Amino acid sequence: MALLQIENLSVNYGGVQAVRNLSLHVEEGEVVTLIGANGAGKTTTLRAVSRLVRPREGRITFAGRDITRLPPDEAVRLGIAQSPEGRQVLARQSVEDNLELGAYTRRDPAEVRADIRRMYERFPRLGERRNQLAGTLSGGEQQMLAIARALMSRPRLLLLDEPSLGLAPLIVREIFAIIRALNEAGTTILLVEQNARLAMGQSHRTYVLDAGQLTLQGDSSQLVNDERVLHAYLGG
Ligand code: ATP
Repeated sequence: MALLQIENLSVNYGGVQAVRNLSLHVEEGEVVTLIGANGAGKTTTLRAVSRLVRPREGRITFAGRDITRLPPDEAVRLGIAQSPEGRQVLARQSVEDNLELGAYTRRDPAEVRADIRRMYERFPRLGERRNQLAGTLSGGEQQMLAIARALMSRPRLLLLDEPSLGLAPLIVREIFAIIRALNEAGTTILLVEQNARLAMGQSHRTYVLDAGQLTLQGDSSQLVNDERVLHAYLGG
């Protein structure tokens, strides 16, 4: 049984059909990439899984449970966390307050404290800046904070929306090293990324979206050499 199963998902914003009849799955332990041009429906797909948008049609199953109509905080409790596009850290709150916010569904304060300490071990720069306002962090540090905040709910499935956006190449490499380490430590990841080559290099499988529809799917190692992907998404 897949950890995440999306079947025939359609999402509309008023008259705009953002996602059309999309089916995909993510197995436990995988890193899966979603690529596609701007407006292809990638963010909308993630937001449907984290239950921030309402599907018009289709079904979303997580760990065998139908979550299609679940409220977002229930999805977090079940083990789904999202690091949103543009990070969306609370700029006027400290790093530590942002991390605590990520644990808002939890009722185990001692364990939350322990997890915050673990985040500072995994992300030493966040530890050094724990009392600093999040808005004063660099872009890369804010991205790390957004990921760490998502991890504070102890997700089984981490949804990452454009983690490399606007970051220098060296920082992007650092972020992807973190993504790989998280996966090796057991977190399943569904990744949306503009940097298709990098994302495909770091994921098991890839789905390609175009105008809300799935056009290609397969093992990342094969798709990265596919003529259609090369031309459309890899500048080949
Ligand atoms: P990007 O890389 O630009 O974020 P995307 O592949 O993530 O693109 P979505 O953000 O999911 O695409 O958008 C899919 C379509 O839905 C686009 O046509 C977009 O303009 C539209 N859309 C997205 N959010 C909204 C909204 N809140 N209201 C109306 N239309 C929206």
